[in-house]
Amino acid sequence: MLFSDLGLLPELLRAVQEKGYSAPTPIQAGTIPAILAGRDVLAGAQTGTGKTAAFVLPILQRLTQDAAHGTHPAPRALVLTPTRELAAQIADNATGYGHYLKLRSAVVFGGVGINPQIDQLRRGCDLLIATPGRLLDLSEQGALNLSRISCFVLDEADRMLDMGFIPAIRRVLKLLPAKRQNLMFSATYAEDIRSLAQRFLHDPVNVEVTSRNATAERVTQSLYRVPKESKRHLLAHLINEGNWQQVLVFTRTKHGANRLAKQLESAGINSAAIHGNKSQAARVRALADFKGLRVTALVATEVAARGLDIKELPHVVNYELPNVPEDYVHRIGRTARAGASGAAVSLVSPDEEPLLRDIERLLKSPIQATALPQFPILNMPVEPDRGPPREMHRGRAAGNGGNGNRGGRGGPRRPQQGPRPQQGQRPQQGQRPQQGQGRTPDGAVRTGGAPQDGQRHSAHRHGESQGSRPAGAPRGDGGRSLGGDRRGPRTQGERGGGTDGGWRRA
Ligand code: AMP
Repeated sequence: MLFSDLGLLPELLRAVQEKGYSAPTPIQAGTIPAILAGRDVLAGAQTGTGKTAAFVLPILQRLTQDAAHGTHPAPRALVLTPTRELAAQIADNATGYGHYLKLRSAVVFGGVGINPQIDQLRRGCDLLIATPGRLLDLSEQGALNLSRISCFVLDEADRMLDMGFIPAIRRVLKLLPAKRQNLMFSATYAEDIRSLAQRFLHDPVNVEVTSRNATAERVTQSLYRVPKESKRHLLAHLINEGNWQQVLVFTRTKHGANRLAKQLESAGINSAAIHGNKSQAARVRALADFKGLRVTALVATEVAARGLDIKELPHVVNYELPNVPEDYVHRIGRTARAGASGAAVSLVSPDEEPLLRDIERLLKSPIQATALPQFPILNMPVEPDRGPPREMHRGRAAGNGGNGNRGGRGGPRRPQQGPRPQQGQRPQQGQRPQQGQGRTPDGAVRTGGAPQDGQRHSAHRHGESQGSRPAGAPRGDGGRSLGGDRRGPRTQGERGGGTDGGWRRA
């Protein structure tokens, strides 16, 4: 099938051609004719399938062909998305696809000043892309007229639901005219997504281009079973040994993302963290550095990573498994976008076995476990956010002459790490830290043969150290079982700060 078979305007065909697309993706082939015909659409498509163009192209066409629009400043199409990044990305796409049309688009989201957005809305737009909280703020301030919306898009509906945006969406729906076209896109189809769809879609055309909850076909998935306190060392090893140039690493918390980014930096791997507590400018900079290969490891929380369009991302690492199994599908969907292939690696600690089982149940197949390689224990401070414990400053770690070897942006990949031990080589006595023994590098009390800084890990050694707790058994240190509370809401901070500054009010 060709784009020209879809009934698109020559102006849109030209824009698509200039993007270099040779043919519509399956989701585009499925949705574009239905949207052009004015139908409601329920579309199931994974991230990276070209779903943005699947709704933006026909919406631009309908807006152009709507003779009644005149010069009224109020928007006629509204796209609601869960995150700022996704909103900005859709707006970029809309600008590109609409290059040869006389339409105006605008984007509004939280976390940045509201006044420029008010000014922009006053000047008028045809297509508005928004996150829910800021949209409601603008509406409450009387800066936004939604009474002329003829097409409403709920993008990443499953994510909206997961992030607790449903009350906000209900409020938005009340502000829209009853007669309108509705489009809903979702990568996964839990039951609650179906019922959300039933609430506002009328006789929708169903377009599903992948089997439900299937992972991206071309993603190679594997996992390592590794103690929590050794994960950062294994990750550094994988990046260094594999000579990875670009890896997106998922952590569960913002604090964890910050900490890991700093730890990887200290191991000589250029890293940046991206999460909801970062300013918009910092996020944009981190993403630009990552896309420009100036940052090797981008450490992100689930929410922040949502909507990032990084072409042909070769590596995704689940540093921690997600609490919600569907998130695994989203995460690994960051690789193999639009036909490219990629690899997704999960680092699974014993307490995460129940989460792994849930994910495998969702995938309907096990994820291939890879034998743990030997890897060096590098000097990565335990709690750099709050300042490492004093003894860490004095202690010496594997071959790098102690602390203070931060790689720094643009610096060499492995500055000052010194010669690295060969596979199978025993660590030298002098490389062991002098202080802090009796605790793991993460500060947890060490049991049995758990590794120490300066030692080299091996699968065998892990086997020894884990002997006291079977995989999946509850932690003995009072830690929360990750198996419970899986579908529970995210923390308020993650919900609010991570996505849309106005959300807390919703
Ligand atoms: P999306 O799923 O909308 O995030 O799109 C994922 C990526 O696919 C983006 O980089 C798009 O530019 C790209 N893309 C969209 N449509 C096509 C197409 N028909 N052919 C090739 N790439 C496409």
